[in-house]
Amino acid sequence: MPLPASRPWLAASLLTLAACATSHPAAPPAAATTTPAAAPAAAPDPKGVGLDMADLDRSVSPCDDFFEFSGGNWLKANPVPSYATSWGPRNLLGLRTQATLKQILEEAAANRSAAPGSNAQKVGDFYAAAMDTVAIEKAGITPLKPELARIAALKTRAELPALVAHEQELGTGAFFRSGVQVDEKNTTRYVIGLDQGGLTMGDRDYYLKDDARTQKIRAAYQAYMQQVFGLLGDNAATAQRNAATVERIEKRLAQASRSRVELRDPQANYNQMTLPAAAQRYPAVQLPRLLADMQLGKAQEVIVGQPAFFDEVNTLLKTEPLADLQTYMRWHLVSSVAATLPAAYVEASFRYNQVLTGAKQQTTRWKRVQAATDATIGEAFGQLYVDKAFSPAAKQKALEMVGNVKASLAEHIQTNTWMSAATKAEALKKLNALRVKIGYPDKWKDYSALNISRESYTKNILAARLWESRREAARFGGPVDHTEWGMTPPTINAYYNPPLNEIVFPAGYLQPPFFDPKADDAVNYGAIGGVMGHEMTHGFDDQGRQYDAAGNLRDWWTPQDAAEFTKRAAVVGRQYDAFSPLDSVHVNGKLTMGENLADFAGLTIVYGALEKQLQQRYGSGPRPNYDGFTPEQRFFMSWAQLRRTNIRPEALRQQIQTDPHSPGQYRTIGPIMNMPQFQAAFGCKEGDKMTRTATDRAVIW
Ligand SMILES: [Zn+2]
Repeated sequence: MPLPASRPWLAASLLTLAACATSHPAAPPAAATTTPAAAPAAAPDPKGVGLDMADLDRSVSPCDDFFEFSGGNWLKANPVPSYATSWGPRNLLGLRTQATLKQILEEAAANRSAAPGSNAQKVGDFYAAAMDTVAIEKAGITPLKPELARIAALKTRAELPALVAHEQELGTGAFFRSGVQVDEKNTTRYVIGLDQGGLTMGDRDYYLKDDARTQKIRAAYQAYMQQVFGLLGDNAATAQRNAATVERIEKRLAQASRSRVELRDPQANYNQMTLPAAAQRYPAVQLPRLLADMQLGKAQEVIVGQPAFFDEVNTLLKTEPLADLQTYMRWHLVSSVAATLPAAYVEASFRYNQVLTGAKQQTTRWKRVQAATDATIGEAFGQLYVDKAFSPAAKQKALEMVGNVKASLAEHIQTNTWMSAATKAEALKKLNALRVKIGYPDKWKDYSALNISRESYTKNILAARLWESRREAARFGGPVDHTEWGMTPPTINAYYNPPLNEIVFPAGYLQPPFFDPKADDAVNYGAIGGVMGHEMTHGFDDQGRQYDAAGNLRDWWTPQDAAEFTKRAAVVGRQYDAFSPLDSVHVNGKLTMGENLADFAGLTIVYGALEKQLQQRYGSGPRPNYDGFTPEQRFFMSWAQLRRTNIRPEALRQQIQTDPHSPGQYRTIGPIMNMPQFQAAFGCKEGDKMTRTATDRAVIW
């Protein structure tokens, strides 16, 4: 699953956030390594709800195309709205969540008597300032002037580190990424991570490739920059020159960047350097000075993700004319807050995004502001949401399901036929140590040092970014905080965090159709259960398996087991490489490997958990069918229901290029084509499209 938009780079280089205080909440600890002991009498299985039979396209055989069979009519009835680029059940749930959140925001904004400094005051003022388009138009670029002046004031290279440090703290995305993160080789402490970055377009290939579509995107990017430089006061010729300068510098960074596939290798992207060694290799970056200015003067070492990339940053800071570096930083500052500026900036940004994603129309302002509130002061906002929308009963039921999925994974590890006893023991140790977080943080972020007012949307955003940088810097040197969350409570998503060996499910995900206390087990296990299995097995995918029980990047596999795993995973890689949603566009099996493995393993183990649950309920007696479908069939239909998606071709191309997740169609059929359990449930035969032959089939867990 993708990571929070506020720190998008985490998705690329593997997540390095958050952790858990709810060490082993109510999940039965004994269930982790063995079959659950005689489980308490389960609540009655509610009658079949949660699947809409009108969604099916019964003219298609489930054995021929399960994506179409299970959701064909839904796909026809739910085209992508003009303001969106893709559309699925997550978006429909999103609409309901947005309505709840809108009410919270409007109430907070209308309440002028909230205690100054309280979360309610901050949330209300943030929203009110961002919705006040009259004041925003009137203010123009004024709120940004102190920051623009700071860049303009640069006179010598000696002053560069102070300025670069400030831009880092403001999160403008210039040059590279930096942050305080859990040390992947000693997860009891924080380290400073330095990673490649500095691009505006979402991938290095947009700068390097020359096909017609990429050229069109680059032209749109040039137009966007020229418009913004024009709005900032440049004449047409200067705006054009400045836009070319930015792209030239970004192209240098792109050429020195690793590909997304290369970023998936955690060992290769962990390069420990003492501070003196790093300072010597990158003298122009002036790391000691830069880190001191970021309140990280105590640092003795850094973890450099991509050493050659920083060679290029070093050369660039040494040789590029100062005026060009200023132009580049000015662009990053302004584009990073474009959404907070007058309409002309917002529209310029949208026109560029249109070319990238195919969007027809801007999302309504309140929805954009809502997303910004979530991304900026998400735990202040999220507390108000949890109070209104999350029930302890949902948390209890979710914990029970996680316990069952965990027990099933333990069993799959124990009965695995290709893994040695030594590797199995380590795997079980890791599963036992897994932390589970559900709903919302036990300890909320403390926003008391952050000042939010109705004066300016732009200023609020910059203040919050600076506050977050300082908050993270303050952790450096202290113990690792296991209470942090990397997603906010209303988020309709979940994640696994390898260095902290934790799975995290925000309250927003625990709602219909993903999780419904009124639905039967088959539906819940196929939906949120599939997500639980997915997140849990990320700990054992091609990346996650490189981390041990304590989250340390340490090889705990015997060489034979590692080789066997890699061989089996490569079968999955080839299967996805062959999927082609558009002419000449193929899924990248290497980029999507981790997600595909988690889908496959997750669905396999959660199927096992459902079987156990059904066994407990009905023993060897008959299991009820609903709407003519067996529980096993409903399980797979529920899995498919989650992943049905309509997507614009432009957005699909962008997804394939940049997203580690395969398109929904292949997330649906990719795993089931390997599963005899699916073939048995629907009576599919050898030769059917959804049945891989024994020689083509992948078998891992
Ligand atoms: Zn995932």
